[in-house]
Amino acid sequence: MKTKYELIVVGGGFAGICAAIAAAKMGVDVLLIEKNNALGGAAVNALVTPFMPFYTYERENAQKKYLCGNLFLEIVEEMKKFTDHEDELCFDEEILKIVLNRMALKYGVQLLFNTVVTEAIVSDRKITSIKALGKSMPLELSADNFIDATGDAELSMLAGCRYVLGRETDNLCQPMTLCFRLGGVDKKAFAGNHLKMNMLYAEFREKGLIKNPREDVLIFDNLNEGVIHFNSTRVAKRNPTDPFDVTMAEIEAREQVFELHKFLKENVTGFENSRVLSTALQIGIRESRKIVGEYTLTKEDLLSLARFDDAIAVSNYDIDIHNPEGTGTSHHYFDLEEWYEIPYRCLVPKDVDNMLVAGRCISSTHEAQASYRIMPYCAEIGQAAGTAVSVAKSNKTLVRDVDINQVRNILRENGFVI
Ligand SMILES: Cc1cc2nc3c(=O)[nH]c(=O)nc-3n(C[C@H](O)[C@H](O)[C@H](O)COP(=O)(O)OP(=O)(O)OC[C@H]3O[C@@H](n4cnc5c(N)ncnc54)[C@H](O)[C@@H]3O)c2cc1C
Repeated sequence: MKTKYELIVVGGGFAGICAAIAAAKMGVDVLLIEKNNALGGAAVNALVTPFMPFYTYERENAQKKYLCGNLFLEIVEEMKKFTDHEDELCFDEEILKIVLNRMALKYGVQLLFNTVVTEAIVSDRKITSIKALGKSMPLELSADNFIDATGDAELSMLAGCRYVLGRETDNLCQPMTLCFRLGGVDKKAFAGNHLKMNMLYAEFREKGLIKNPREDVLIFDNLNEGVIHFNSTRVAKRNPTDPFDVTMAEIEAREQVFELHKFLKENVTGFENSRVLSTALQIGIRESRKIVGEYTLTKEDLLSLARFDDAIAVSNYDIDIHNPEGTGTSHHYFDLEEWYEIPYRCLVPKDVDNMLVAGRCISSTHEAQASYRIMPYCAEIGQAAGTAVSVAKSNKTLVRDVDINQVRNILRENGFVI
């Protein structure tokens, strides 16, 4: 069994898969470790769909301008080949899983599923090896460089890196949500009843008949006949890095699924014959640990549409904060042609020299994370991290000392708007 690689990526979400592919495409020998049985991260483990928008429109000619980098667009294009559905945002996670497997293998990424990384051995500010529990087998694997794409900054935590949890004032994180699907919905009968449903929901909440703290019912269409997707449970004030708290959150959220279904079945046109079709494998975690990196992205950077000499990604998604204390969601939407940049230093942890961090756990404040955390921009950050590792490898430098202009030129050639 091969135990030594040039790069080990931990976590197979959008950040991890794009990091692994970007590096492999440039000749790096990459192992990607994922604790579940498929790639896609929150999209498959927590049933998170659809993609939030990854583009803006040009003012002058209303032309769409993509902001996400070419690897994410390639994933979207590959998924389109499976269906006649043209919407770029709505996708089927089963199609995503097979597309990502095929892309990973095509570009030469070694995959290792059903394996949880549990320990990092660090010497002289470098991770020398990691320990993992593979399917029923303890493993020790080493690499020149690592990318932490675990969403929860687990590898960074295991390597002893400093991190912050949730918002700065009280460490509360955005609430967790167990996504679910109802089947047997008469979508035609329901059409036009959205507002009525939410008014009734508010009335039920006021009377104490619904306990879910979420202020309205958040639904999305699904590609399957009679199926509606719900991103509508809400568990606040629980710590997403504490396994006992997460267990309680799973239990509370499952109660909310059935509470909401009962309400809809008994009161809303179109749901009379509906049933709970599926719930996600895991409750979805919007926010948990964020590493302490060489730069911390802030809300002020977002609002001022900041530009950085070492920018490696951009985002224009709403500063979308589901209230960490319970009810309410706050927004700040960016205008046409507005976006902010994310500097490379946010991916560079202060405490370890041969690791980058990618995805929703890079170095930022609570408010800044609320914006770049969506899947297309996590993919973009991942692609940048993988590219940086390959440049560091060719030039024989530490990732923290990488020739950032060389990285940025490669990213620009790959559709980045930095
Ligand atoms: C409820 C909810 C709704 C959302 N809605 C949307 C939406 O509509 N549209 C949108 O674009 N974004 C949405 N988001 C945000 C988005 O889904 C996430 O922020 C994004 O997927 C994060 O990507 P990532 O690659 O950083 O991490 P993840 O997708 O979380 O991937 C991390 C991966 O690492 C693996 N892993 C973790 N620890 C280990 C370990 N120790 N060993 C091995 N593997 C490990 C995990 O199994 C996982 O597959 C939502 C998020 C949530 C929770």
